Amino acid sequence: MHIISTPDEMTETARGWLTGGTVGFVPTMGYLHEGHRSLIQSAHAECEISVVSLFVNPLQFRVHADFLNYPRDRERDLRLLEQEEVDVVFLPKTEDMYPETFSTYVMPSGPLAERLEGAISPEYVRGMATVMTKLFHLIRPDVVYMGQKDAQQIAIIRQLIRDLTVDIHLRILPTVRDSDGLAWGSRNHQLTVEQRKVAPLLYQALLLGKEAIEKGERQAQRIKEIIYAHVAHSPSIYLDYVAVCDPDTFVEYDEVAENTLITLAAKLGAVRLVDNILLLKGVQWHI
Ligand code: AMP
Repeated sequence: MHIISTPDEMTETARGWLTGGTVGFVPTMGYLHEGHRSLIQSAHAECEISVVSLFVNPLQFRVHADFLNYPRDRERDLRLLEQEEVDVVFLPKTEDMYPETFSTYVMPSGPLAERLEGAISPEYVRGMATVMTKLFHLIRPDVVYMGQKDAQQIAIIRQLIRDLTVDIHLRILPTVRDSDGLAWGSRNHQLTVEQRKVAPLLYQALLLGKEAIEKGERQAQRIKEIIYAHVAHSPSIYLDYVAVCDPDTFVEYDEVAENTLITLAAKLGAVRLVDNILLLKGVQWHI
């Protein structure tokens, strides 16, 4: 496993890819878990060269304290990456990614960038799009692996790839969940024991939405009510939003359509979690 810690060395290494075969890239903020592992294993299995980045991107945090508090364990991450036989790990320093003179940002616009996560934090959208663009240029992957858990991130990156004519294939993998249904996330370990106990209500609520649709419910408002009502079983969970929307544009629906994303964000104390389920072609569920 080759560890690269400067953008210059990453650029130099990526120049050599051309002859090496397909490059699969998994961007992460570290503190790796089973969700990351699934992306890494697919990149390893499907590409000749697998690259994983570990970079907690300060640009995408609205509140600086959240950036400082984001969980980090580089030693443990490197052990996991070694186990998974990753070829290249890129762990740049903040000051090398964003030197003092840094002043160019990628700013997605329109409903997709301005709704839900974008309404709560425009900084997240701008910071995430900017870092991904930089990572794409530095690493020059053929395929980028991302998880369904972050549905709006996927939609924004898909649009970015299209708009900026980036020659990268986006490969989306299903959300990996703990045995009680809670989607794995780096922030999960920040939950108290009590919060961790009730957190699976989020996924259960999404499944109740699915069940309602399967029984014929079409009204988005009704599905949202079902979800709010289930999560209300725990006073420790505050829902930032629940949306029933188009998975590509994030325009909210009045009625369930062929392709429908049910997505939510919740706060449990200071910890913010997102989750979603996706209906495609009116029959195929991605849960
Ligand atoms: P992060 O380190 O949180 O920025 O996530 C890096 C990548 O892992 C993103 O593409 C996420 O969507 C993906 N990811 C995070 N959690 C999960 C999960 N539980 N299942 C599948 N993918 C995930």
